[in-house]
Amino acid sequence: MKKRGVLIVGGGLAGQRAAETLRRRGYEGALRICGAEPFAPYDRPPLSKRVLAGEVGEETLAYRPRDWYRENEVELALGERATALDPRGHTVRCESGARYRYDRLLIATGGAARRLPFLTHRNVHVLRDLADARALRAALAPGVRLAIVGAGFIGQEVAATARGLGAEVTLIEALPAPLAPILGEEIGGWFADLHREEGVDVRLGAALAEARGGAAVEELVLADGERIGCDVVVVGIGTVAATAWLAEHGFAAGIPIDAGGRSPLPDVFAAGDSALSLDPASGRHHRTEHWEAAAWQGAAAARTMLGEDPGTPPPPAFWSDQFGLRVQCVGDPRGADATQLDGDPAGRDFEVLFTRGGVPVAGLAVGRPAAIRTLRRQIQDGARAVEREELAV
Ligand SMILES: Cc1cc2nc3c(=O)[nH]c(=O)nc-3n(C[C@H](O)[C@H](O)[C@H](O)COP(=O)(O)OP(=O)(O)OC[C@H]3O[C@@H](n4cnc5c(N)ncnc54)[C@H](O)[C@@H]3O)c2cc1C
Repeated sequence: MKKRGVLIVGGGLAGQRAAETLRRRGYEGALRICGAEPFAPYDRPPLSKRVLAGEVGEETLAYRPRDWYRENEVELALGERATALDPRGHTVRCESGARYRYDRLLIATGGAARRLPFLTHRNVHVLRDLADARALRAALAPGVRLAIVGAGFIGQEVAATARGLGAEVTLIEALPAPLAPILGEEIGGWFADLHREEGVDVRLGAALAEARGGAAVEELVLADGERIGCDVVVVGIGTVAATAWLAEHGFAAGIPIDAGGRSPLPDVFAAGDSALSLDPASGRHHRTEHWEAAAWQGAAAARTMLGEDPGTPPPPAFWSDQFGLRVQCVGDPRGADATQLDGDPAGRDFEVLFTRGGVPVAGLAVGRPAAIRTLRRQIQDGARAVEREELAV
């Protein structure tokens, strides 16, 4: 049985941020990160962008050099996949048989790629970790026919990177426009046009019926009977919380947390893509699945463990890089009832302010990295105005 202290299960962004925050803010006890992958904590966004493109090497991904862990006395238990939690015994058991005791536990196991049961062939890929990125990179080459199922941000980024590598790309999306539930059909349609202009064959409203081939998929068949020949398939249809190992505690779909990262179990905290954070606007728990939220939640859980105020969560935000363009979004566009456009969508240079009852709730900036700061301020001011109004009622 291994020693107590703080145990972080899941060596990704939220876990790393928690470890750094604990040490920086004076925690001197035992601190261990137990992660399923054989790598020290690393950054995931470049996996679908510059690393997949081969523009930068894998060595650029690590959050910290190995010396940092030694100097800060953060023990790395790598290749250790947690399989069971005993909250009463304050113990986590791993696939290897090792058991780790804790005084405080942070669960930050991230997300797992959703898969389709009829797409299990050897040329079918997902993209969640470095091993996935290595396998996909090895399969892409000029002229390779790549079919991507799902035109969310991962699907779009893979499409853009694969085009840069000379692949022939078909992007298959069941919705009438990419990202329509978040950004609306008009802006979603702009993303479809962007990809078409760059030579991607974009199929919208396209339901996948069947995969044909032997050990490898040779063609995908759409519900209308159309066949799409392919050498490689990427399934990019979102993620689920990587918490199946916590099903017996009721957390199979994620771990509900308060603003300080506390779960319903004593001394158990959670952060990042495996957590269900509380949305103050709706009063509901939901997964955030973005870099900024995971980083903030990891640091917030560490502060709570230290008895500090975790602070106020920032508004949701994400970015994406495609075809040399930076796309940034802040706030939640889903609650908007109107939009204001500024700029030139055809010139790939514009921003959109999403409002509700005239109050800014979200902003999108395309090709305007400087604009996002102003949009963020407008959204934060909008949220404060709504709060004041609610207090006055
Ligand atoms: C390819 C890709 C591109 C992305 N691009 C963007 C982007 O452009 N912008 C943006 O805002 N966000 C992006 N994201 C999302 C962002 O990277 C995640 O939101 C963030 O990494 C979540 O951090 P996390 O710590 O919760 O999980 P992760 O960083 O995924 O870390 C979780 C870790 O837990 C480990 N683990 C899982 N199960 C277990 C277990 N049972 N036991 C032990 N360890 C376990 C995993 O192996 C992993 O190392 C991207 C994600 C991916 C995959």
